[in-house]
Amino acid sequence: MRPTDAPLDNLHGGRKGLCLVLSAPSGAGKSTLVARLRAEFPGFAYSISCTTRAPRAGEEDGVHYHFLSRETFISRRDAGFFAEWAEVHGNFYGTPKAPVEEKLAQGHDMLFDIDVQGALQLKQVFPQALYVFILPPSKEVLERRLRGRGTDAEEVILKRMRNALGELTQAVHFDYHIVNDDLEEAADELRAVYVAGRARAICRPGLLPGLMAQWGPR
Ligand code: ADP
Ligand code: 5GP
Repeated sequence: MRPTDAPLDNLHGGRKGLCLVLSAPSGAGKSTLVARLRAEFPGFAYSISCTTRAPRAGEEDGVHYHFLSRETFISRRDAGFFAEWAEVHGNFYGTPKAPVEEKLAQGHDMLFDIDVQGALQLKQVFPQALYVFILPPSKEVLERRLRGRGTDAEEVILKRMRNALGELTQAVHFDYHIVNDDLEEAADELRAVYVAGRARAICRPGLLPGLMAQWGPR
């Protein structure tokens, strides 16, 4: 586990939360990379999405997703509950707006694991966020991973493979492309993107004034 740089930032007057947005074709390994990043940086606030898809084995309501009926999702969507939403592989997914605004205001970094359409919507709302696209090393490996995961029916796998090409087409709009071939290398690159992002001047608004104040009034 790696310590956060909170003490340094507290010393210099607080910091602003960073948004790290990850997208990938299903099966590329995004959940695996997200789990590693969250284990390494436990201070990350994670956006728990709403979805209309059925829970998979081991998934808990309120932990992995908020599992909603289609009717509830649509009524929340129409009431402006979501920062972004999209229909992915035949199900609705959306990011609840209020917890995001709350966490960012408290200075927490936020991690988003969302589909390409949703990420591009978020770009309108949070243009200063970091947008990372996780690529599979090849079509063959992507299909093998989808099957190897053993969680989805054959027709779901084929649908996800068909959708992958459209998603790859949108990857040009992302800031970073990380190939998840060797897991360690991909995790290293993702960590590097995040750590560098945290050092951006806009995330440390208190740093410079705090340091300059040591010279006394001008
Ligand atoms: P996603 O969240 O993008 O749909 P997952 O994280 O569930 O993908 O990964 C799909 C499958 O591929 C899982 O069984 C996972 O353990 C495996 N996997 C992920 N990354 C790698 C990797 N670098 N090498 C080999 N297998 C991987
Ligand atoms: P899964 O059903 O495998 O958990 O997720 C399918 C896809 O939906 C993934 O690409 C995942 O990132 C995306 N997804 C999960 N939550 C959200 C969300 O809140 N908004 C959008 N747009 N996509 C999401």
